[in-house]
Amino acid sequence: METVKAYGASSATSDLEMMHIDRRDLTGNDVQIDILYCGVCHSDIHTARSEWGPASYPVVPGHEIVGKVIATGPGVTAFKEGDLVGVGCMVDSCRECSACREGLEQYCENGAVMTYGGKDKHLGGHTFGGYSQNIVVDEAFVVRVPENLDIARVAPLLCAGITTWSPLRHWNVKKGDKVGVIGLGGLGHMGIKLAHALGAYVVMITRSMDKAEDAKALGADEVLLSTDEKAMQKHANSFDFLMNTIPVGHDLNPYISLMKRDTTMAIVGAIEPLKSVHGGMLVSKRKNIAGSMIGGIEETQEMLDFCGEHNILPDVEMIDMQNINEAWERVVRADVKYRFVIDMKSLQ
Ligand SMILES: [Zn+2]
Ligand SMILES: [Zn+2]
Repeated sequence: METVKAYGASSATSDLEMMHIDRRDLTGNDVQIDILYCGVCHSDIHTARSEWGPASYPVVPGHEIVGKVIATGPGVTAFKEGDLVGVGCMVDSCRECSACREGLEQYCENGAVMTYGGKDKHLGGHTFGGYSQNIVVDEAFVVRVPENLDIARVAPLLCAGITTWSPLRHWNVKKGDKVGVIGLGGLGHMGIKLAHALGAYVVMITRSMDKAEDAKALGADEVLLSTDEKAMQKHANSFDFLMNTIPVGHDLNPYISLMKRDTTMAIVGAIEPLKSVHGGMLVSKRKNIAGSMIGGIEETQEMLDFCGEHNILPDVEMIDMQNINEAWERVVRADVKYRFVIDMKSLQ
């Protein structure tokens, strides 16, 4: 066992502070990763503050991890020392259920082991995430980072990237489709970039006009102000797919009116009650409302490879580990373009 430095919260109301955690000795298929960068996801904050139910403390968050392999177990075949790798939201799953067999580990029927706050099968207790010097992960849950990408910006692809990539792929978004991305934050900005790279005609749907210029720079072809009733009417029944990244409960009905017959709106942001939906709006044109959560390991690799090919990267603001509490306050205020990444050298 190795003791490493980490940043964690010891209660729902405490700031993150430096602490020490244990990493297990490498078993046969384990890879040990020296963490170079870790993205800051809003889930980190919700979890640490027990906003999604009581957390086990200390919480050491971080599930957008990029680093270098520093050691491998004797059974490891996919990675070697020095490889540039990533770890996202999961570090294990049952690998036997129908979801796991289909490469949908995120929907594991026995519950995937989340990167932090999951049940640690090896050491007991719960798992600790990427706000730490290194991590030990089974190679089946490690992905390869394309060497041509600027590694300082890759980390948010491991959660924000795959969360928006998976629905685009599942609902088969293709060249020429009219895709609406609702909400411009960490998820929305990746949704625009990825849908654009897939050849879609991308419309950023937002309530605030000051996001319009940004959205266009990110790859949106058009901006639709959801508060402008006339504009909303002009776009009625015209979208092939909607990706809804709004992180809180809200009224879906205005967005449903934008959808073509037989199309889908995928909810990827809100995991709380949504306001009631008018059934007639769904029934009259066979419209679908669906949800989607991150993506499987194989799909995460596919997304990274696609980003490598098209040189797609999140827009990030780099911080030191010591500035994390301030950064979290800014995430809560949605005052970041569009993702914080922690330079983990600051924790040496
Ligand atoms: Zn996340
Ligand atoms: Zn499973």
